[in-house]
Amino acid sequence: MSMDPAAELPFFYGSISRTEAEHHLKLAGMADGLFLLRQCLRNLGGYVLSVVWNLEFYHYSIEKQLNDTYCITGGIAHCGPAELCEFYSKDPDGLVCPLKKPCLRSSDTPIRLSLFDSMKNNMLREYVKQTWNLEGEAMEQAIISQAPQLEKLIATMAHEKMLWYHGKIPRQESERLLYCGAQTDGKFLIRDREESGTFALSVMYGKNVYHYQIIQDKSGKYSIPQGLKFDSIWQLVEFLKLKPDGILTVLGDACVCTAPGKLPSLPTTRRTGPNSYTPAPQAATAKAVRPVSEEHVLPMDCIGFNPYHNPNEIKKLNLDRNKLFIDEVELGSGNFGCVKRGVLETKTGQLDVAIKVLKSDNEKLMKEEMMREAEIMYQLSNPFIVRMLGLCNAESLMLVMEMAACGPLHKFLSSNKDTVSVEEIVNLMHQVSMGMKYLEEKSFVHRDLAARNVLLVKRQFAKISDFGLSKALGADSEYYKARSTGLWPLKWYAPECINYRKFSSKSDVWSFGITMWEAFSYGGKPYKKMKQAEVNSFIESEKRLACPAKCPERMYALMQECWIYKHEDRPDFKKVEEAMRSYHYSISNKVKPLGAVAAAEPDMYP
Ligand code: ADP
Ligand code: MG
Repeated sequence: MSMDPAAELPFFYGSISRTEAEHHLKLAGMADGLFLLRQCLRNLGGYVLSVVWNLEFYHYSIEKQLNDTYCITGGIAHCGPAELCEFYSKDPDGLVCPLKKPCLRSSDTPIRLSLFDSMKNNMLREYVKQTWNLEGEAMEQAIISQAPQLEKLIATMAHEKMLWYHGKIPRQESERLLYCGAQTDGKFLIRDREESGTFALSVMYGKNVYHYQIIQDKSGKYSIPQGLKFDSIWQLVEFLKLKPDGILTVLGDACVCTAPGKLPSLPTTRRTGPNSYTPAPQAATAKAVRPVSEEHVLPMDCIGFNPYHNPNEIKKLNLDRNKLFIDEVELGSGNFGCVKRGVLETKTGQLDVAIKVLKSDNEKLMKEEMMREAEIMYQLSNPFIVRMLGLCNAESLMLVMEMAACGPLHKFLSSNKDTVSVEEIVNLMHQVSMGMKYLEEKSFVHRDLAARNVLLVKRQFAKISDFGLSKALGADSEYYKARSTGLWPLKWYAPECINYRKFSSKSDVWSFGITMWEAFSYGGKPYKKMKQAEVNSFIESEKRLACPAKCPERMYALMQECWIYKHEDRPDFKKVEEAMRSYHYSISNKVKPLGAVAAAEPDMYP
């Protein structure tokens, strides 16, 4: 999961309260300029800087901006919490004094995880499992590829899974629930207010129940009127457990909701068995719980056939022709024949499929080739690789695959230049690297990785396709040696492929670099005006494709690594995927939380 960018700082304490921060500073001697950093309990990704001056405490909140920078309100922006602290150690720039001495965490004081930090992995898994009906490897892959977006989703929806959240119940009902059992001060619940779609907090105090409206401002932040503002309901609740900000008492015990659908991983005595929550039907849940706007739809939000699932049950080498309906619409064509769209009838319903139909002339050779392609695809099962559903031998030989309705990546990007962001391209290329890492692990070489062979199931969901040239490497061989050259995509090929006809996962890495270049140039043609012989000498003289205009530096640096001349020195897909993942996570944080816009909020308080 993505790590806290402050985790490496020796003066970072994690999710501690203000009182605890002051306690640490006292123990460390209260010198002027003594400081520590802690997680903000109210803003996701924000911090608080606690500083001592003149034997007093000053707490400055640091907000994370949408462009991934950090700043103290009114101060200048910094690219990370470390840089921010370094800056204020040289220049007080509005603080009471410069940061002089870090209050270091002792070895027996680990960084405190917030409630969310400690729960989010479990919550994420439960959420993905329940909402998209994914399990096992498919679930893990889905989580890796979408972790930043999922974390955000979980952060804003997590309250729905909390035991204190009762959904839409009338005010009287909330009172009845609170009066039941022990009437301890601070016993509370959160409910949806019937009329307005906002929330209410109902709290027991002195044997009476009090109701507070929770309002949401224009930027999406939650608060009790006149109280502090929070990014999420659960943060507000956690904060009010520590401090009665504008209410009569701190929150105490949760008045437990016994409706199904709560996370079984939360501490609870209510749980009766491993399946005591009800997994709702996939599509219905997806609609019911999430605000769906095109921008925020996750790859898993696919209707009908779930391309994350392992469809082994329908992977057949002799599909019944009567179950297959072929459209006249051609999705693409090549010298093998053409790819048509169609529908496959299965036990679980109708699936949209793409059907590679063999041309009838030159049959025998072509047939063998298609059989080999099918044989390779048959062995592959990964969310980021187009799945083969079966073969059908009828009027011609047909390879039936899951449908990737948005077509090849290069075409999609060149016709949607204005709307597709660099972040989205990074996300897609990370998915491609995950698929390639899988191939590398299984010892397959693709040999035709290019943007034209990356197909989109939807705008946020890419899959590798076209295994026409692919080979399974033998158990003990690092590479495949072609006996002779063929119709090869030479501009995508590494020097060892061109010079020695040697193909390995490392030569696929070279092609991945070219594919990245195509993607970041929005479907541009590599070495556009050059003949192949010119490309060869260009590469031999250590020249490489230039950085596309909108391409981030780190992505171009990765491309250049993919184009290291000697394959021994080139990274493998394990490394490439790591690099793509860490960049994807680092920039996805600046995608705004669901339904919220930026709001600077003055908040500087001793
Ligand atoms: P070729 O070996 O001729 O490149 P491909 O397998 O790449 O064959 O398919 C050719 C074209 O058919 C692709 O560029 C794409 O437009 C379309 N196509 C292939 N497979 C699918 C699929 N699963 N879903 C949607 N379109 C597809
Ligand atoms: Mg192709």
